[in-house]
This record gives sequence, structure tokens and C-alpha cells, in this order.
Amino acid sequence: MHEPPVALAPADQRALIERLRAAVGAAQVLTEPAELEPALVDWRGFYRGSALAVVRPASTEEVAAVVRLCAAARVAIVPQGGNTGMCGAATPPAGGASIVLSLARMNRVLALDTSNDTITVQAGCVLADIQRRAAEAGRLFPLSLGAEGSCQIGGNLATNAGGVNVLRYGNTRELTLGLEVVLADGRVWGGLRALRKDNTGYDLKQLFIGSEGTLGVITGAVLRLFPLPRVAVTAFAAVPGPTAAIELLGRLRAALGSRVSAFELMQRYCLELVLAHIPGTRDPLATASPWYVLTTVDDAGTGSGLREALEAVLAEAMEAELVGDAVLAASDAQAAALWRIRESIPEAARNEGLLYRHDISVPAGDIPGFIDEGGRRLAAAYPGVRIVCFGHVGDGNLHYNCYVPGRRRDDPAALAATDVNELVYALVRERHGSISAEHGIGQAKLDELEQHKSAVEIELMRRVKQALDPLGIMNPGKVIRPAGPRPPAG
Ligand code: FAD
Ligand code: ZN
Repeated sequence: MHEPPVALAPADQRALIERLRAAVGAAQVLTEPAELEPALVDWRGFYRGSALAVVRPASTEEVAAVVRLCAAARVAIVPQGGNTGMCGAATPPAGGASIVLSLARMNRVLALDTSNDTITVQAGCVLADIQRRAAEAGRLFPLSLGAEGSCQIGGNLATNAGGVNVLRYGNTRELTLGLEVVLADGRVWGGLRALRKDNTGYDLKQLFIGSEGTLGVITGAVLRLFPLPRVAVTAFAAVPGPTAAIELLGRLRAALGSRVSAFELMQRYCLELVLAHIPGTRDPLATASPWYVLTTVDDAGTGSGLREALEAVLAEAMEAELVGDAVLAASDAQAAALWRIRESIPEAARNEGLLYRHDISVPAGDIPGFIDEGGRRLAAAYPGVRIVCFGHVGDGNLHYNCYVPGRRRDDPAALAATDVNELVYALVRERHGSISAEHGIGQAKLDELEQHKSAVEIELMRRVKQALDPLGIMNPGKVIRPAGPRPPAG
């Protein structure tokens, strides 16, 4: 069974480093502590590991060579993209026995086909660069999230990233037509197909999407493109609560159909965190409201009447007391400023203190009930708890986070505590939801995964892992544990 690899003797480590240098060039195998440091800590500063080296291949062939060398030496490989993940999935384990495989140099767009509406990219392309290249060709690549300036498409694929446009375009999974993957034995699966219809047996790419680097290294992808919206209107509206927000979304969709591309909910406290921690932000509305929604509607056609239609829905919603006050962005800059508030929430919340994070989903209609009951249970268990609730309400996905009084980031016991998570996940389970709607399992939710999936699902996942990575060298200690007794804590 896929046991985590063991540490090499020092002489074998040196020999491996030399072989890696021969494979990718001496300058692309980093071993100095200062060079390794950024790769050893996650974005939240929550997980820290150590590694023999950071290896930076420039091509699929070089990735394959690195994987073959590591497989021969039984050394674990931790693929790393932009290192913006939230679950410690790209952080190597402690002990220094693994290598971090950085895709950063594989950042080329290989092809853009406007007749097929596809873009073919290397895995290390930064998401914002793909969006830009698509826009230059008059197309939209709709995946959009706060980390888009630094996350890579390989990381997006490996986590099946969601973001703010799932409502209309789906998750990364739905945006992907083909993949190229270096398997755990160093062979290359060339699945860079650009087909919208292909029923030739098992859809292997879906296994690698969302596998968090535990089954192979994604080196390239064919992604779907869409018409570039020519007109977009963004509104920020005060709402009395989540029930009103969901009712408003229903009205918007009834009036505007699929032109509603994003619809985000946030609690007042999220806005206050942003105003306190992110310079240059300001409250868009004159009076405070307990909740807000941020929505963008757009149109790839002339967009005629779009703004008026949005205004009409908001005016009717005000009549019905679903909306208090609202502001419509008058320019792209104003729309960007409104979106900056939403996208800065994770950073602002990180800066405030020790945040217990949960990215959960329940059926969208259950969101208000989940928020009510979660608030009641957390307040009863932790008087003075501050809840940071925001998210993709139309997808039934909430970032449902909280600060617990007296718990600090510099206290290891507070960092390691799982009581808050258990309380929230119990509620998720009662409501038939998911403990990870977006961010994945990584090393953060290994125990929870086993509690939330059936024995059949866990066994099938282990069999897939065993089939594709029999030596257990691909990102061990993430997503799924080997069968058998739990390793001792510590
Ligand atoms: P990393 O963090 O480097 O890696 C993540 C996982 O993917 C690891 O398991 C790693 O081993 C694996 N991996 C990376 N590259 C490869 C590869 N080429 N082949 C195989 N495995 C690979 N996520 C959302 O889903 N929705 C959001 O709205 C969202 N908003 C965010 C906002 C902020 C401010 C931040 C900091 C993060 C946000 N995230 C969000 C989380 C994060 O950005 C995503 O998970 C993103 O997809 C990670 O990409 P990355 O390149 O940084 O991957
Ligand atoms: Zn999100």
C-alpha cells in the first residue's frame, strides 16, 4: 500500500540532487534555505514543512525526468503552483525528505483557437495571464478568484477551483476539455484533446482534476473559452439577510437569465474587516446594513437595456423590502473597487487574527437555515465569537469562518484545536452538505474526510490512489491516508 517514502541517507540525497541538476539545469534546483523558504510555508502562514530542494523544470519532458528520478529514489514529490491554496496541500511535510516541484517556469500559452473557442496552456500559467490572453482574442476565460494574480492554472485544476463565476460557467472541472499529466512513474499521458463531445470510456481527466497533486503532475490543459462580455453592470446592495439575498437572486435570474454572472453575499463584519485592513477601500453605502450582495450582470451582445433591467429588479426588490440601499457602478473603475472589497476579505480576515475557516456547501435554499443555526450554536459554545460569513450564495457555498475570543495565532494549542471545526462540520453533515466546496482537503481536512465520506467512497479513493501512485510518492499525506492504523500525532 502507498506508504509515505522514507528519508534518504545524506549521500543518496546528494546523488539525487546531482541527477536532478543534470535533468533540469543546476540553477533550477534550489537548495539554499533562503531560496526554499517561500515554498515551505502556505499563504495563510498556517502550515510549514521542509524539503530537499525546489525543482523548477521548464518542459513536460523535464517534469517526466524529475518524476522518474524521484520514483527511482522513492522520494516524495509535492507539486506547487502559485502556493495560494488554503489547505496546506502544496506545503511539503516536515522532515525534509521530499522535493517541491514548481511549475512556475512552464508558463506559456501554447495555442488559442477562436473557431473552437479553446486555449491550450502549460500548467504554470498564472490565471490572470490566461484571462488576459483570452480577452485579447475577444474571448472570456471565466475562472475568476481573489488569488488570480498569482495562482496557476495547474493549481486551479488540481483543486478544481471555483470562484465568483461558477454560478454561470461552472467550476474549473466544467471549463476543461483536455489535460496532459506526468504520471507517478514518469510516463506522460497526452490527453490535450480539444473536444466537446468524447464518449470513449472513462473520463480520465476528471480523476486528476481536484486530486491536489496526489495522482500525477498536471503539465498542460485545453480550456474552454466564451464570448467576451461587451457590457457589464455591477451593483452593491444592502439586504436584510440571506433569505432576502436568495429571493433577490431568483428575481434577477427571472429577469436577466444567464446574464447574471456573479452574485456574492457578505456580512457587514466582512466589510468592516476590509475597511480596517485594506488601504484605499471605502464603504460604498451611506448607512450600515447587516448584509450585502455584490452582483455583476453582463452581456456579450449589445447589452442594450441591461442596466435598466438591473435597476428595475433592484427597484422592485426595494419595494418588496428585499433591498435597502444600492449602488450601481458608473464605470469600470467603480466596479473594480466594489469587487476589490469582496476579493480582499480573505486577506483582511487573515490579518485580523486566528481564523477558523470552513468552506462549506449546502443546497442553496438551505443557506439561511445554515447561517441561523450555525450562528446560534457557535454563540452558545463560544460567547463573543465573531463570524466572518461570505460567499457564493447562488452555489450554496459559504466561507463560514470565525474568531474565538482568547484564541491567538501564537498559541499552538489554539492553532491545533479542532473543536470549532467539529461543531461546524456536524451542522454540515446534518444538512447533507460538503465540508469542502472549493478549497479541497489538503492536509487540513484529512480526518474530516474519513468522517464525512462513506466507507465505500474512501475505499474507492484509496484504490484509485494505489492504481495511479503505487509507490505513494505523489504528495503523500494529502487528501487520502493509506489504509491501516493512524500515524501517531506529533
Ligand atoms: P497551490 O496552492 O500551489 O497548490 C494547490 C494544490 O494543487 C496542491 O495540492 C498542489 O500540490 C497542487 N498542484 C499545484 N499545481 C499542480 C500541478 N501542476 N499538477 C498537480 N498538482 C498541482 N479558491 C477557490 O476555489 N475559489 C476562490 O474563490 C478562491 N479565492 C481565493 C482568494 C484568495 C485571496 C486566496 C489566497 C486563495 C483563494 N482560493 C480560492 C484558493 C486558491 O487560490 C485556489 O485553491 C487555487 O486554485 C490554488 O492555485 P495555486 O496555483 O496557488 O495552487
Ligand atoms: Zn470562494
